[in-house]
Amino acid sequence: MSGYYADVIVAGAGFTGLSAADALVSAGLDVVVLEARDRVGGRVERMAFADGVGMDTGGQFICDEMPNVMALTRRFSLPLAETPLEGAFLVQPQPFSEAGSSFAESGRIRARANRIDPRDPGIAGLTAGEWLARQSDPEGAKASYQAMVEGLWCRPVGEIPLWYLIDNDRRTISNGNELQYFAEGTIHAAAEALAATLGKRLRLDTPVVRIDRADGSVSVTTGAGDVLTARQVIIAVPPVMASRIAHTPDLPNPLKGALTAWKSGTVIKGLVRYERPFWRDRGLSGMIMWRDTLGLFACDVSSRQASALVMFAGGPVAVEWSGQGHAFIEAEIRRRLVAALGAQAGDVTGLLIRDWVGDPWSGGGYSDVITDLQAYDAEGILRTGAPPVHFASSELASSFPAYIEGAIVAGREAAARVIAVHQSAIATSASGS
Ligand SMILES: Cc1cc2nc3c(=O)[nH]c(=O)nc-3n(C[C@H](O)[C@H](O)[C@H](O)COP(=O)(O)OP(=O)(O)OC[C@H]3O[C@@H](n4cnc5c(N)ncnc54)[C@H](O)[C@@H]3O)c2cc1C
Repeated sequence: MSGYYADVIVAGAGFTGLSAADALVSAGLDVVVLEARDRVGGRVERMAFADGVGMDTGGQFICDEMPNVMALTRRFSLPLAETPLEGAFLVQPQPFSEAGSSFAESGRIRARANRIDPRDPGIAGLTAGEWLARQSDPEGAKASYQAMVEGLWCRPVGEIPLWYLIDNDRRTISNGNELQYFAEGTIHAAAEALAATLGKRLRLDTPVVRIDRADGSVSVTTGAGDVLTARQVIIAVPPVMASRIAHTPDLPNPLKGALTAWKSGTVIKGLVRYERPFWRDRGLSGMIMWRDTLGLFACDVSSRQASALVMFAGGPVAVEWSGQGHAFIEAEIRRRLVAALGAQAGDVTGLLIRDWVGDPWSGGGYSDVITDLQAYDAEGILRTGAPPVHFASSELASSFPAYIEGAIVAGREAAARVIAVHQSAIATSASGS
């Protein structure tokens, strides 16, 4: 396939790459999408239980405040289930009554942090952990805030620049109900539906390893050594993965720096099936946060298809569990659920575990996080790119970075930049001829 000439090559068929390609095809451009894995969806993927019921082992939850992903579920007629949230919320290990108050206290710390201007010189060089240590809140509230940050950003609080955390959180403009819905037949089905519209424009098992820029065009070398040429390329992979693609000539220094400012998040997701949602008999919602091990969280994902709990291990705990292996993770999930919900939680009818730590093609999850305290401009530099080379991923979205919604937004924003370059090239050649 060497030598193929397209308007645009998109590297990566996660929601960012698929959404970019979708927008480019709609605008009439000739597009090729090259995906390293043998499937589309990236950090959104489907795994099936023994009885064939499929669930999302990557990104799953969406909400009304996410217009683009909601529109996608309507476009492909994907039925949504409301996440069951009614009932008591458990904090482990401690009496049930304290759960609500420590959650509220952690929310107050989050709101206080988000009122700080990310560019305030008073917080320059401060990590979220250092800022938290200076707060006078009760230790329980601080632990709850740390659990929330490490569970959502999936890196230790001592590594995350406070300015980045604030800036990132402010762009997640929901009313705090990101768990509102999930797609009954998986949200991964939306990625497959988008891929189906691309037909032969999509090539799986085709990693991009090198990009050569010359005379206003790009040559993209794949892992198999094929070379494809195009006018422009969108690298629709997370920044850490993008930093592994070689460039000739070298990318400008600011771009190289911007690509190395990030680390991949670390997360493990477990889906635990039961005959019935027995926790509801005791007035429990199935939502559990662990205090003795920060970054652990569970909630109910039962639908008409199956009764199930999802459990996340995010941040340092995911690294620790991942190092101990699959059997340990399985035993730990079971042990924790039994301790929280009683012996019935041991009657598991199916278990899916997805360890995303060090994932070869997405690096981890939920997203990459800036850990360079000085890298204020990293996102802006990546968004600007070095046309004809453009960068896009959920991390770079103007709204809902690190979410599926953000990936769609980032893909469309990158497509708009590519279309602008394309149209200006057409105008220039028309005026020259
Ligand atoms: C466990 C987990 C749970 C999550 N839960 C939620 C949730 O409930 N709700 C939500 O909104 N979001 C959630 N997220 C986050 C969400 O899934 C991501 O933000 C989003 O899917 C990222 O999409 P993307 O296209 O930017 O990146 P990716 O999905 O990582 O896509 C990048 C693609 O590029 C490919 N690739 C990488 N390198 C190359 C290369 N060199 N050449 C070619 N292809 C390459 C990869 O294989 C991948 O397919 C979760 C993520 C994880 C991991």
